[in-house]
Amino acid sequence: MTLTDTRAALAQLRLRPSRVLGQNFLVDQNIARLVVKAAELRATDTVLEIGPGLGALTEMLLERAGRVVAVEKDTRLAAFLRERFGHRETLQLVHGDALHFDFAAAMPSSFKVVANLPYAISTPLLMRMVESPARPRRMVLTVQREVADRLTAQPRTKDYSALTLFTQLHYEARREHLVSRSCFLPMPTVGSAVVVLRLAPHPLLEPALECPFKQMVRAAFQHRRKMLRGVLPKSGLGGWMQPDKLEAALERLGTPRTARAEELSLAQWLLLTRELVLPATARPPSN
Ligand code: SAM
Repeated sequence: MTLTDTRAALAQLRLRPSRVLGQNFLVDQNIARLVVKAAELRATDTVLEIGPGLGALTEMLLERAGRVVAVEKDTRLAAFLRERFGHRETLQLVHGDALHFDFAAAMPSSFKVVANLPYAISTPLLMRMVESPARPRRMVLTVQREVADRLTAQPRTKDYSALTLFTQLHYEARREHLVSRSCFLPMPTVGSAVVVLRLAPHPLLEPALECPFKQMVRAAFQHRRKMLRGVLPKSGLGGWMQPDKLEAALERLGTPRTARAEELSLAQWLLLTRELVLPATARPPSN
């Protein structure tokens, strides 16, 4: 939808965009096309769109995907979308909160997500999708620049965080494009970026170790300036977190004794989890 279309639709609805619901509507057709192209859609694909708004992306998604499930929280927008697209058989419009939407029940085993995410909930929503057993196979998301930086961060940078590691445990994350504030109506206070998350073909960690991995990473990044050997044993992680085993494992990983959360790569976090949780005989050989 163009700027003029968007203004006209908002006037028709007498809708003042809600900041709480992150209603910054995309008015740049080039960015909309770029987002949809990055989803690499085929006629057999089912797409989940979170927060379709006035339908700027929905229209293009319907042209390319086999089925679109769109979840919109705002009652007036849901009614507008029903009127605009009501006749399209391949669209399932859900009026509800994406934070409570049951992906596992509603979506097929393989699906993609395309969304210009409402800023206030982008991190919890991302966490939900990344942690769900029914993970999307590809996500193309427009998010705040700062969130994009965290998703794609490298070790030893300020953006490297628990969100980075939880995402990169399952997804290859790439920043596709920066998006200027002027591409939205109303203009948000910060810039955005389009990120593409591609599900890794094989799990990087044994499913039984995911929980201890996450507990440990979360605890470590809560005190990111402190040394791991000081923080982790005091974090109430359970019997598997023993100070002497931790020291020995960090040494085997080749990290300095002073290592902090942000200094370990994902591969090192995975090795550390295995070293601490698995008995020595069950660990795969490290090289
Ligand atoms: N997709 C549209 C576009 O690109 O122009 C709108 C994007 S706007 C940034 C975010 C949309 O998400 C709004 O339509 C807003 O009402 C909706 N929204 C906000 N919170 C939501 C939630 N918890 N569940 C579902 N939709 C939500």
